[in-house]
Amino acid sequence: MAKANYHIRRKCPICGTIFEIRTIDAVYCSHNCSAVASKRKKAQEEKEKKYEQMAKEIPDIKEYLTAAEAIAMYCVERSTLYRDIRLKKLPSVNLGQRQLRLKRSDLNERYELRKKVRKAAQKPIPKTYNMEPENCYTIGEISEKFRIHDSSVWAHIRKFSIPTRQIGNYVYAPKSEIDKLYKSIKL
Ligand SMILES: [Zn+2]
Repeated sequence: MAKANYHIRRKCPICGTIFEIRTIDAVYCSHNCSAVASKRKKAQEEKEKKYEQMAKEIPDIKEYLTAAEAIAMYCVERSTLYRDIRLKKLPSVNLGQRQLRLKRSDLNERYELRKKVRKAAQKPIPKTYNMEPENCYTIGEISEKFRIHDSSVWAHIRKFSIPTRQIGNYVYAPKSEIDKLYKSIKL
């Protein structure tokens, strides 16, 4: 019997089987493979949601990221990230046992930001600060609380563009920003 020559064959992207399609939009060889594909898709979406949530919580001023944070922010798989670190394609610093850190500028150079992260960065939320003294620290208080010399406090305030306000002899900076700053940078 002559074989019909209009049969279309496709390769199942899940199991690799070559199969004859029954409908033109068939992608998978079987219900089984189709179920596997939809499960994978769901898992991927879950993963991306987790990344998005994590990325949202990383302060903009944080200069050194953990590997998990880097993966949450950038389009890079865990295995690729660690390979790049191992091959020294991506510089890293080690602050101690299991304390690997990656510099944001190095990551920016090598990887793309994830789409959701990029979108969030594009529409900055206008920041409003409560500059009333009760919501602020004086420079002296900051220096005392975080055990940092005045001059370093000033340097950080300038570097991270933290707003200040002078009342009498005192200069005030918002507690929220200062707390966030010293929580996120390693002293
Ligand atoms: Zn299949």
